[in-house]
This record gives sequence, C-alpha cells and structure tokens, in this order.
Amino acid sequence: MTEPLGSMRRFAGKVVAITGAASGIGAATATRFAAEGARLALCDLAGDRLAAFAEGLALAPADLFLKAVDVADGAAVEAFVEAAAAALGGLDVLVNNAGIGCFGHVDEITPEAWRKTMAVDLDAVFFGCRAALPHLRRSRGAIVNTASISGQLADAGLVAYNVAKAGVINLTRNLAVDHAADGIRANCICPGGVGTPMLTAHMRDAAIMAEYERLVPLGRVGTPEEMAAAITFLASADAAYITGVALTVDGGVTAQTGQPN
Ligand code: NAD
Repeated sequence: MTEPLGSMRRFAGKVVAITGAASGIGAATATRFAAEGARLALCDLAGDRLAAFAEGLALAPADLFLKAVDVADGAAVEAFVEAAAAALGGLDVLVNNAGIGCFGHVDEITPEAWRKTMAVDLDAVFFGCRAALPHLRRSRGAIVNTASISGQLADAGLVAYNVAKAGVINLTRNLAVDHAADGIRANCICPGGVGTPMLTAHMRDAAIMAEYERLVPLGRVGTPEEMAAAITFLASADAAYITGVALTVDGGVTAQTGQPN
C-alpha cells in the first residue's frame, strides 16, 4: 500500500535551508520538508512574499529562519547559510533552488544578462555549498540542487540558462565525488516543464503550453509538489546510497528521440 504524500517524518528535527522558497518548486519543497518534521531556513529575493508564504507553514518561531536575499550576491548567499546554521543550531540539508530564465541567442543577449544568469543560476550554488560544507561535514548532511533538463540538452533560445544549469549538474557531481569521504551526499533534480510562474513567463500563451504538453509522454507539465517529492527523496535516508545523480523529473520528455514514425 502506498502511504499518502507527506505522511512520512523523514526529517524530524533536521535543519533544511532552501533558496528561492517564496514560490513554485521552492515553496512546495519547503511545505513538504515541514510536513515531514524539518526545521526550515528559507530565503528569497521577494522577502514579503516569503514571509506571507511562511505564515502558512505553521512552524514555531524557533523552527523557522527567514531572510530576504538576492542570491546574485555570493557574499549574501554565504551569510544566509551561516545565519541559518547559527539560528537553528546547524545544517542537515541545503537545497539550492533559486533560479531565473534568460531568453536569447549568444548574439542577442547582453554580457550583463549572461553574467546575471550565471550569478543567480550557477554561482549562487557554488557560494551556498561553500558556506554549507563545514556544517554538512558535522551533520553528514546532503545537498540537493535544482538543475533542469535544459542543462542536459540545448533548449532553443535559452543559451545562458542551459549553460548555467549544465554547470549546476557537473558542480553537483564534483561535490558528490569530492565530499563523499566527508559523509556528504550531493544530487540534483532536472525538472522538465513545471507549472510555476517561471514556466508561465516562458510559455506565454495557451497554444504554446498545449504544444509542449503534446510532446510530453505523460501528457502534462509537472507540479511543484512532484519536484518537492524528488528533492526530499534525494535529501532523505531513503537515498543513502545515491550521490552524484542528476535525477530527471520530466514526464518522459527527454526519454524520446522526437523522430516521427
Ligand atoms: P518560480 O519563479 O516560481 O520561483 C523561483 C523563486 O526564486 C521565486 O520565489 C523568486 O523570487 C526566487 N528568485 C529569483 N531570483 C532570485 C534571486 N536573485 N535571489 C533570491 N531568490 C530569487 O520558479 P520555479 O519554477 O519554482 O523555479 C525554481 C527552480 O526550478 C529554478 O532554479 C528553475 O530554474 C528550476 N526549474 C524550473 C522549471 C519550470 O518549468 N518551472 C524547469 C526546470 C527547472
């Protein structure tokens, strides 16, 4: 018999830090970790939205740390991780999730847009992990990064995003290899299209969305809760022998060649 989602308590008393937690996948992941007993440190660029979201988590003030952070600022990411560990007494799991899209070909995007995308989507992951490693060594903890299928294959017109997410995938592999002896596991998820504000910004009208869903073997975009299920699995003891993995969660869209038959 399958247990209802969230009825497990795999993170009772554990401290979990999540970036980009005010919306979409980050918010669903925070909700799932909280439902499974975790104490949470959450950050987002949108501090007000984060505070409003966190009210619904029903966590005691001693079990919640919130901070408005622009993860494009590496020092601010490091300061968030340090402050989270100080406030909640250590760190067991870091989820580097904040991300932005960036439209355009190499000869269309500005150097500023390129650098901003690298700062938010890739460098922030480096800075978060850098600050978290001493704490995760003590807890023998885990890192889960939100990458994308766009980091595995080239999504047309999204070069900066694709490159940054490809970097996240290999940064994750390197963390896994370099820190296995410290008892730290590192994995990432590679979502396909997920119904969040990021996707609706990208697929602006219903016809584009319908065309995408036609290409997905499971026939629909994913939900933030389905991404949260994958992230919490990778962070949990259920995944004790899994490290260095880029787990594709895409309804099968990258499993096919796309060739007509
Ligand atoms: P979302 O827009 O719903 O949420 C992203 C959150 O990150 C927002 O709350 C936003 O305020 C925050 N954020 C953005 N820039 C930030 C910054 N500089 N500093 C701090 N916080 C910042 O989008 P989402 O779909 O939930 O995206 C979450 C992650 O999932 C991203 O890394 C994204 O690349 C990845 N992803 C999303 C999809 C999809 O289809 N939605 C697919 C693959 C991967």
